Amino acid sequence: MGFEIVCQECGAAIFTGFDLKSAKDVLKLYSGRCKKCGTLLSPQDFQLEVVRL
Ligand SMILES: [Zn+2]
Repeated sequence: MGFEIVCQECGAAIFTGFDLKSAKDVLKLYSGRCKKCGTLLSPQDFQLEVVRL
């Protein structure tokens, strides 16, 4: 069981993985912005999509 963080603006997958903590680290890495369209993503805001891998 894993999950994806998906940008609400452009639909790009920011992160795919298993650990929510590392997802927040990834957001920090990109300064909380979508690497594709640059939209600001806050951890409270981002759409968390749980997917089966
Ligand atoms: Zn985006």
